[in-house]
Amino acid sequence: MLVLHLLLLFGSTHTYAVFLAYVLAIYCVDNSNTQARNTAKIINSCIHHFVLCLMENPQTSMLWDAPCISRLCRLSLAQCQSFDMCQYNTRWRKSTKVISWHCGHELDLQRKCQGRNGMCSLTHKPHIVLTGPSNVPGMLWTSLAQVYPDALARKLANKLIDASYAGRRTFLGSPVSKRLK
Ligand SMILES: [Zn+2]
Repeated sequence: MLVLHLLLLFGSTHTYAVFLAYVLAIYCVDNSNTQARNTAKIINSCIHHFVLCLMENPQTSMLWDAPCISRLCRLSLAQCQSFDMCQYNTRWRKSTKVISWHCGHELDLQRKCQGRNGMCSLTHKPHIVLTGPSNVPGMLWTSLAQVYPDALARKLANKLIDASYAGRRTFLGSPVSKRLK
């Protein structure tokens, strides 16, 4: 489970000449209720301090149904975006939902695969089913699929930068100033 609750931009040697640095809160706890409560605490804190905040999870994740999370998702400032990862150039479909707070309508992540019978409308290849070991030794497909595709990471970063320009505050108290190319 992943909560992306802060996005900052720094110069670096990354492919896009800038590096997207973000704080990830990954809770490796056994108790899903504890996981949900900890996640809700972080989101609450971001909301209270006007920090741009995103939560991403698979569309069918039970986390969305946890009362402490669903309550935050129903807030008027919360924005819901749904998309398929394959539309950002992965070989798997992985239907995904993002809820954002303090990000306005700028995210615009909606992209759904129109393919049928397991075929992808973008790549015109069969979707990879995320079960079992991947073609990378020692890695499961589900583990590989946790990594954001470059196109999605770039779009998220740029949209959050746009949102910060729209008058919202970042962790540093001023908008970040450089877009990814
Ligand atoms: Zn697809």
